[in-house]
Amino acid sequence: MVQLKESMALAASWVGGRAVAGGDRFEVINPATGEPVATLEAIAPEQVAGAISTAVDAQIEWQQRSLPGRAEILLAWADLLQQHREPLAKLITAESGKLLTQAGWEIDHCAAMLRWYSQAALRITGTTLPMHGGQRNFTLKQPVGVVACITPWNFPAAAIIVKAGAALAAGCSCLIKPSELTPTIALALVQLAERAGVEVGVLNVLITNAPATVGVVLCADPRVHMVSFTGSTKVGKQLYQQCAATVKRLALEMGGNAPFIVFADADIERAVECAINARFYNSGQICVGANRFYIESTIYDQFCQRLQAAVASMSVGDPLLATSDIGPQIHSSAASRLAELVADAIDKGARLLLGEQSTSGAFFQPTVLADMQPTMLAFSAEIFGPVACLYRFDSEEEVITSANSTEAGLAAYLFTENISRLVRVSEQLQAGAIGANSCQLFAAEIPFGGWKQSGLGKEQGIDCLDEFLQVKSVCLGIE
Ligand code: NAD
Repeated sequence: MVQLKESMALAASWVGGRAVAGGDRFEVINPATGEPVATLEAIAPEQVAGAISTAVDAQIEWQQRSLPGRAEILLAWADLLQQHREPLAKLITAESGKLLTQAGWEIDHCAAMLRWYSQAALRITGTTLPMHGGQRNFTLKQPVGVVACITPWNFPAAAIIVKAGAALAAGCSCLIKPSELTPTIALALVQLAERAGVEVGVLNVLITNAPATVGVVLCADPRVHMVSFTGSTKVGKQLYQQCAATVKRLALEMGGNAPFIVFADADIERAVECAINARFYNSGQICVGANRFYIESTIYDQFCQRLQAAVASMSVGDPLLATSDIGPQIHSSAASRLAELVADAIDKGARLLLGEQSTSGAFFQPTVLADMQPTMLAFSAEIFGPVACLYRFDSEEEVITSANSTEAGLAAYLFTENISRLVRVSEQLQAGAIGANSCQLFAAEIPFGGWKQSGLGKEQGIDCLDEFLQVKSVCLGIE
């Protein structure tokens, strides 16, 4: 098992500063090797109520901390993440198969978010309102309370920090429920948070291989005031329903189906470079992944050839090696699912420009498919793997209509050297994040969150703490 230090070799949930176990044992498997990374003991469902009590008590204390006090701790946490960059990145790679270079970037991004949140914490204010009817009125912004953070495996550190960092800055406590596929990185992050000065009980990690059971308990308990979820649309919708009974605040970051539009007047070299990034980053397992490449007919063949050549030069291999461009999928079942999507497309008339149709364990060869049609499964499914699907279009109006014909409005990309079109089409695409001649959608200061059925709320950005704060109006009946 990759460890930060011997003392951090935890194998159970972490609640109130100590390990808690009582449920099933399960293994975390390295997708690149098929070998176990760690054996963990799940929390028993009946122990979750106790963890919630711990978070409730700790939150009362934590919200009393001054804003500069919270900011200092977040900065110290960021520093510790940077100091432990290498072992943390190796842990991410071991659990998720992410390329080590990209896992290192993830840790850098985590530190950057904590620094951003530390500054946001200093700016939590209320307002004083003009007298009304002889009464003085003001507002306070106060923490929501206890937040359940349910996170996926594809950004196993960043998806936690983006939530927990903001929640802490706002004065909330957290029950972090990481993916059962990547749980140990969560334990390492929280250990470092406590070393940075976060009081025990403020950040708790619930390890389970039965997420639905624990999810039901978290959603049903009125002492959990908010659920902040990142993951699939299917599970997000389920949590939305489960939270209705206790009217929780919800933040949902869910699946995407991004269009990537290349007009004939685009800088093709740049578009191909961004296509590689937007489709093949994290071995294709990104929510903002380019799912549907729309290429204007007059440059279709040229673009196909250039993308095919660029993808052919990518090397698939050990995620620990700097020479690898693509590592394994999270699981062999994910690779098999990709093979099914590719087979369906070929059956329905798509041209296979690149890629073998056999899988080897969790590895899947990068694939490029041309002559795609909306009737193929890959048009509406979230591909979530290294498969580029190329469609053809003839007019701006037609491509906007087709690009928007999805309920997943997370991200969209467009490439054109015509500045009027760049702005006009950006305005018309129905997605929360637009890459306009760009594929860089992430930075701590850029708000991120989906439209339509891709999400509720925003993470990061200037208003990043508002999700975790509630406004109280105080109406003073004094002379
Ligand atoms: P997932 O929905 O299977 O799991 C996400 C989390 O929910 C995990 O912690 C899992 O254990 C938990 N979970 C699963 N079933 C649950 C239930 N019934 N009740 C409570 N919790 C439950 O998603 P995944 O496979 O881990 O991640 C991939 C998905 O996440 C993709 O759809 C991707 O687009 C999405 N994603 C979205 C964003 C975004 O910012 N919008 C970012 C990363 C990933």
